[in-house]
Formats: sequence, structure tokens, C-alpha cells
Amino acid sequence: HVKERGRGDFRFYQRQMNVDLLTRMKIDHAMREALVQQHFRLAYQPQVDLRSGTLIGSEALIRWKDQELGELSPGQFIPIAEETGFIVALGDWVLREAIRQAESWQALGIDLTMSVNVSAVQFQQSNFVESVAQLLAESSLAPGRLELELTESILVQNVDEALIRLDALVNLGVQLAIDDFGTGYSSLAYLKRFPIHRLKIDQSFVRDIPDDDSDTAIATAVINLAHSLRLRVIAEGVENDVQRQFLLEAGCDEFQGYLCAPALTPADFIALFQRINLA
Ligand code: C2E
Ligand code: MG
Ligand code: MG
Ligand code: MG
Repeated sequence: HVKERGRGDFRFYQRQMNVDLLTRMKIDHAMREALVQQHFRLAYQPQVDLRSGTLIGSEALIRWKDQELGELSPGQFIPIAEETGFIVALGDWVLREAIRQAESWQALGIDLTMSVNVSAVQFQQSNFVESVAQLLAESSLAPGRLELELTESILVQNVDEALIRLDALVNLGVQLAIDDFGTGYSSLAYLKRFPIHRLKIDQSFVRDIPDDDSDTAIATAVINLAHSLRLRVIAEGVENDVQRQFLLEAGCDEFQGYLCAPALTPADFIALFQRINLA
């Protein structure tokens, strides 16, 4: 009886895997088509200075609505793009589009940095630094207005090569941030070796501020760590005023989150910028 059920479970499990594989292949195919058809777009989430309350930057977040599959979240398709290597082409498009948007805001006299998420697979391409240099050379965007968000996984694989690339990126004038800080496996030692400008406190440590003592302690520790290394620090996923007030008092520099706005269309972003910064 047990054996039979076991076999049944196995068949069920296999069927599930096949469905998943099929879905993944379908998504992979649809992504390639969407890039050609220009169906991807970027949405821009404001980054707010905690002390002044003004907008200081924008994080570009990819959005995709497929005709058949509907709206897919980056969490659903970025991992597939990383598996198949399609992230290299997609990431290149993201960089190009974010730089173009930042350049057009710069031309309007809007003083903001543009943060772009970089996948580990993308960063590990041998021509990654060259491609960033090329995009900047073709653009009038001040390189200092571009920030690349890297994950800790980038910094722990092949540390020496990563360091060479980070130095080369800094030499181009771009800013570097560590995204989802505290969720990876890296040691703190790399923080003093790597030319990082900003830490992003992961939203999992922000969500339960101030009720959860551990999360509150971790957020405070990251703020103090950043400042003792002379890095700026931004909190992600700030949804309410209690969290904002706590982070402000803990000395955090900046925040991002639904309390200010979700990722917006360029038109909505500009409207918000005008309302807040030009009031
Ligand atoms: P991330 O870079 O850590 O981005 C933060 C995520 O938190 C975004 O989800 C954002 O919409 C969401 N978020 C912002 N404020 C709040 C809030 O107050 N509460 C909550 N609960 N969530 C908030 P999104 O857009 O679904 O992106 C998820 C992840 O996908 C990103 O995490 C990033 O790792 C990845 N991603 C997004 N766009 C790109 C891209 O262009 N390239 C690459 N390589 N990865 C991307
Ligand atoms: Mg990010
Ligand atoms: Mg240039
Ligand atoms: Mg993050």
C-alpha cells in the first residue's frame, strides 16, 4: 500500500515538474518575444531623503504584461531569465532604458539618481563593465547619477574578479549599492574592501519595525555599520509612518516604500516630484 502510494506520489510529482518545465519554457519564449516587441517597461519607485522628505532618486523596476499570461512579477520571470541566460539581453535593455529615462529627467533639470538592479549572471559577463561604459559614453547622463544595485551573491563569488570590476565601475563614475543587505551569505569583511556607496536594508527587516525586537535591532545595526564605514543607508519596504519615524530617529538616511509611492510610470513619477520637491 505504502509502495503504491509512493509510486503515485512520484508520478504526481513528475507531472508537476513537467507542468513547471512547460511553464518555464513558455515564459522563456514569451520573454524573448516581448523584448523584440518592446512589451517590457520600467516603473520607477521614488527614493526619499528621510530628513528633508524630498525625492532624491528612483529605482527602475521591470514590468511585463503578457497578452496570454497576464501581468507577471519580476519574481516570476527574472529567475527564469537568469537560468536561461536571457537576463543578459534583458538586463542590457533595462540599463539602456533606465539611462535614457534618467538622461531625459536630467535634461529637464530634475536632479535624481537612477538605481538599476543588476543580476549576478549579468555582472559575471566578461564585457559587463565595457557595456556600462559604452552606454554611458552614448549618453549625456552624468555617470554619478547612475547607481548599480548588486546583491551579496555577486560579491562572494570570485571575490578578486568582482573587486576588479567594481573598481572599474567606480572609475567610470557610477555609484554602487548592495541590495537586500543582510539576506546573503557574505562576510562583513568585504564591505571594507569593496568600493560601495550605499547599503539597502532588506524589507524583511523593515516590515515588523518596531514590534519585532530582532528586526529592529538588525535595522539599527545595519544603519550604524553603514555609517561607521561612511556609507549611506536606505531602508526598503517602508509602508507606514511608525517605521519612517523609527528609521529617522535611528539615523537612517533614506527610504523607499509604499508610504511614499509604489513604482510609478514616468508621468506619475514626475507629477509626484513636482508636488514634493518643487512645492
Ligand atoms: P528589489 O530590487 O529588492 O526591489 C524591491 C521590491 O519591493 C520591488 O518588487 C518593489 O516593488 C517592492 N516594494 C517597494 N516598496 C514596497 C513596500 O513598501 N512594501 C512591499 N511589500 N514591497 C515593496 P518588484 O518590482 O516585484 O521586484 C522584485 C525583485 O525583482 C527586485 O527586488 C529585484 O531583485 C528584481 N528586479 C526587478 N526589476 C529588475 C530588473 O530590471 N533587473 C533585475 N536583474 N532584477 C529586477
Ligand atoms: Mg533593488
Ligand atoms: Mg557620457
Ligand atoms: Mg531589495
